[in-house]
Amino acid sequence: MNYTKQIQDIASQLFAEGKIDVFVGYRLNGFDDNQVPVLIKDPQDVHKLVFTDKSVFNLVNYLKTDHTRRKRVGLVVKGCDSRSLNLMLTENQVKRENIYVVGICCEGVTDDAGQKMQNCVDCMVPDAVVSDELLGTASGADTLTYKMNADVAALSNIPLTERAAYFEEVFENCIRCNACRHSCPLCYCAKCCIDQETATLYNGANTTSAAFHALMTWSLHLAGRCVDCRNCEKACPSHLPLHLLHKQNESVIFENFQEHLAGVIPEDRGAFYKYSLKDPDDFIM
Ligand code: SF4
Ligand code: SF4
Ligand code: SF4
Ligand code: SF4
Repeated sequence: MNYTKQIQDIASQLFAEGKIDVFVGYRLNGFDDNQVPVLIKDPQDVHKLVFTDKSVFNLVNYLKTDHTRRKRVGLVVKGCDSRSLNLMLTENQVKRENIYVVGICCEGVTDDAGQKMQNCVDCMVPDAVVSDELLGTASGADTLTYKMNADVAALSNIPLTERAAYFEEVFENCIRCNACRHSCPLCYCAKCCIDQETATLYNGANTTSAAFHALMTWSLHLAGRCVDCRNCEKACPSHLPLHLLHKQNESVIFENFQEHLAGVIPEDRGAFYKYSLKDPDDFIM
C-alpha cells in the first residue's frame, strides 16, 4: 500500500486552487521507517507527505486542535479514521464543507515488527466511508459481518468476577497520564469530567481504584462511538490493552442495539442517543 505520489499531487492541487489552508497527512519521522502526523501549511512542504502501511495514526484527532478549527483542511483517512470523521460530523464538531477528504481503501497498517496490527486483521470497514476522492481498490464487501477479536471473545467467556479481577490487575498499570484520551479523536470535550477528579498522578493520590474508575468512565464515554483506530493504545506509555474495554463494549452494543457499529453510516448517532426503555439491560458488566 503506497499512495505517497497521489496524496502529494492532491495536496499540491488543493493548495494551487486555494481550496485549503492546511493539509493533514503523514511524514517520515527522520530516524527510522516510522511516520508521524504532519500539518502542512506551506505548499513547498508537500513533498514531505507519505502514505504507506506505516501510516498508522488516526489524523481525525487533529481536527480538534486550534491549528485546524475554523480552517479549510485537507485530510487523509483510512476506513477506521473515516468512521470517527463521520461521528465528528454528526456530533457537530467539524463542518463538512471545510474538509477535503482523501479516503483510502485500506489494506492494513503494520506495527514496529512489521506485523499487521490486530485491529487490521479483524477490520470490518477497511474502505473510507466518507471521502471526496477514494484511493485504492474498494474491498467490495457490501454487507457487514461482525468480527470479535479472539482475545475479547476469550474474556467474554470467563465469569464476571474473574473478568473484573483481570481488568483491575491489568489497569493497575495505568499512570493517569491521559495520553489515551488526548489521542482519541472522539474525546474533544473542552472540560473532561475525568479531569474533575482529584485523584490523579500529579497530586500523589493515584490509586488502582482511581485509575480503574477513570478508564471505565472513559470507555463508557466511547461506548458505541469507538472506531477501533487504536490511537489510544499507540499513545499509552504503559502499553495497556485498551481495546479490550472498547471492543467488549462494541460487541455488546452490536448484539443488543440494532447492530450499531460506530460511524459507519453518516448521521447515525451514537448508540446512547438511541436509548429506549425497551432496551435490554441484563448484560451490564
Ligand atoms: S483498522 Fe481497518 S481501516 Fe483501520 S488501519 Fe486497519 S485495516 Fe485500515
Ligand atoms: S478509544 Fe481509542 S480506538 Fe477508540 S476511537 Fe478513541 S483512540 Fe480510537
Ligand atoms: S472521557 Fe468523556 S468527558 Fe472526557 S473528553 Fe472523553 S468523551 Fe469527553
Ligand atoms: S495512556 Fe495509558 S497510562 Fe496513560 S492514562 Fe491512558 S491508559 Fe493510563
